[in-house]
Amino acid sequence: MIDAHVHIGRENGHESSQEQIQGLLEGYVNQGVRAVRDGGDVLRLGLVARELAPELGLIYKTPVYALVKAGGYGGFLGQQCSGLADIRAALGELMALKPDFVKVILSGIVSFDRYGVISPGGFEPEELRYIVGYAHDAGLPVMAHCNGATAVAHAVELGVDSVEHGYFIGISELEAMAELGTLWIPTFVPLVNYLVSGTAGSLSREVLAQILKGHAENLRTALTLGVPVAVGSDAGAAFVPHGQGVHDEVECFVRAGIPREDVLRLAEENGARALKL
Ligand SMILES: [Zn+2]
Repeated sequence: MIDAHVHIGRENGHESSQEQIQGLLEGYVNQGVRAVRDGGDVLRLGLVARELAPELGLIYKTPVYALVKAGGYGGFLGQQCSGLADIRAALGELMALKPDFVKVILSGIVSFDRYGVISPGGFEPEELRYIVGYAHDAGLPVMAHCNGATAVAHAVELGVDSVEHGYFIGISELEAMAELGTLWIPTFVPLVNYLVSGTAGSLSREVLAQILKGHAENLRTALTLGVPVAVGSDAGAAFVPHGQGVHDEVECFVRAGIPREDVLRLAEENGARALKL
């Protein structure tokens, strides 16, 4: 099993500590996960995880930290940048840390209370163009946290290699991704596990159910169109345990109507592609 989207620097929605990393990585091994792709964190704990993973027989790839637009969503995931000069500096510093790919935050997150609303965040198209060009010149893929049709459309058009989350993605974005071979990692499980956690209020439950219904429809459409979809849990988010998360995500795909053997094949083949194995 491959988990194509985790945050080793987070544990149940909170920062993890350096001392916890070994145990979190063992969580993957114990749950039969052989490879994980990290999404970055502000404390750069990915550097610790990358040191420890080989001894556990775990393949671990990390962007170290994400590039985040200052003032927008995602400060806990990486380095905040407020313009091109900042972005250039953050990328220069990042390259010295030898990231396996470049992670960029291109939108906020979906509201659990107001259907269709996404919190502020993300770079301007010219900033993203620079980041993608820089990463690709360095031989690194770009992993893009991205929600909402407009943000996804820009990301795909400007050549990111994977769309992470992609809530409210539209059919024209999916068509473009199928054509370009852009990976999609839908990460159902943070929303699903929150929904079933018993902590969500009735309004949130209603909104989440509606969002997840549309997301499942989009998954079926994506697979019909031939979008390369990988299975990633967003483990480290609230209610998403490291190791178990990807198995929960498999169940989300199955409940969306995708045959289990197809889900396992997607996890393996497109997971390997996401991690460049
Ligand atoms: Zn994430």
